[in-house]
Amino acid sequence: MTAAGPVTAMSLPERAKRAAKVAAKYADAVDREGRFPSEALDAMKAERLMGVMIKAELGGEGASLSEVADVCVTLGQACGSSAMVYAMHQIQIASLNDYAVGSAWYEEFLGRVCDEQLLIGSATSEAGGIGGNLRNSICAVDVVGDVVRLEKDATVISYGEASDAIMVTSRRNADAAPSDQVSTVFVKGQYTLEKTTDWDTLGMRGTCSEGFIFRAEGAKEQILPRPFAEIAAQSMLAVSHLLWSALWYGIAYDAFARGQSFVKAAARKNPGQTPPGALRVAEAANLLQQVKGNVVSGLKQFEAAKGNPDALNAMSFAVAMNNIKIGTSQTILTVINHCMLICGIAGYKNDTPYSLGRHLRDAHSAQLMISNDRVLGNTSTMLLVNKPDPSLVG
Ligand SMILES: Cc1cc2nc3c(=O)[nH]c(=O)nc-3n(C[C@H](O)[C@H](O)[C@H](O)COP(=O)(O)OP(=O)(O)OC[C@H]3O[C@@H](n4cnc5c(N)ncnc54)[C@H](O)[C@@H]3O)c2cc1C
Repeated sequence: MTAAGPVTAMSLPERAKRAAKVAAKYADAVDREGRFPSEALDAMKAERLMGVMIKAELGGEGASLSEVADVCVTLGQACGSSAMVYAMHQIQIASLNDYAVGSAWYEEFLGRVCDEQLLIGSATSEAGGIGGNLRNSICAVDVVGDVVRLEKDATVISYGEASDAIMVTSRRNADAAPSDQVSTVFVKGQYTLEKTTDWDTLGMRGTCSEGFIFRAEGAKEQILPRPFAEIAAQSMLAVSHLLWSALWYGIAYDAFARGQSFVKAAARKNPGQTPPGALRVAEAANLLQQVKGNVVSGLKQFEAAKGNPDALNAMSFAVAMNNIKIGTSQTILTVINHCMLICGIAGYKNDTPYSLGRHLRDAHSAQLMISNDRVLGNTSTMLLVNKPDPSLVG
């Protein structure tokens, strides 16, 4: 039996709940101090959660995206930053699982992720006008013989300092067009990070998403064999929108639970009288169900399309995935705002069982994390030629 044996004998939801308990304990301190949620990450690693989506032959558990999304929901209820770190790591894993197939370097690397519970960061955002435009790069990989070198002015690399490896987008070579991109994973020891910006933000403070000049040197085979255009269209965009939405739903669910507890406590104090917040709890429950339905239907659509490049490349699929991100990122703010109105000052204060400040601040990142305007702009172009599918069973 491996060291992982006793833990992985337990169900994934059970292990996620145990890690979430630790994340919840430190969530307010992580938020207040704007520090990396190291206790939560240690707990996730102890629960062997980092490699669950990797196939069993490489040491993982072959968990589905829906199962991983459910872990994100559980973590999101405890600590938005911890859940976001976990979700971003799994977005990289999803890409590597499907788009590094046949690469000996990546098989060994994914094995290491499982064995050593490595954490993978991501550097797509770039200075020089690229911003959140995932599908364009200025920097380029420089391949000489078997060696690849890369320097990137990365405006945001979440948990850059805490990462064990970072997946970076760039142009294929110095002569390539901005959209002719590749993606490369560099492991700790192969890169240096020169900090350029701090991360003192409204919310998601524990993601420590600082800016860095990223300089790396590795082996040529670390450049992913498939073009980044394919990885982004068929995996990264959809998986990002689904896992982010799952954890955002978790944040909103915890806010709802606090609002509901507030009303229940008020009802106990005055038996026979319905507290004024009760109607608003019902409204919040309705909105929360819309968020859940959005995420569940998106996950179903993704699992059905998985492995079928035509389905994953379809405009209707891209429109649906974009809509999940837009809908969820907007609706969670309304849900949490309802909860704030329900709890009143007890929700506004930072030191009560009904405090909602962290939830609201974390939730505000959702609309900016790839700007909703950018996503809507992309959808609007597709809708010039594509008709949404009206079918409920298709
Ligand atoms: C918590 C958090 C963690 C993050 N972690 C990472 C990470 O690990 N790695 C990483 O690479 N990035 C990360 N990001 C960055 C993120 O994914 C986006 O790239 C970034 O937030 C975009 O920055 P921006 O708003 O300055 O730029 P832009 O996307 O350029 O947007 C700036 C403004 O311009 C407008 N705009 C720009 N272009 C368009 C357009 N085409 N159509 C309509 N409007 C437009 C938007 O309305 C927006 O308000 C993270 C962000 C957050 C919030």
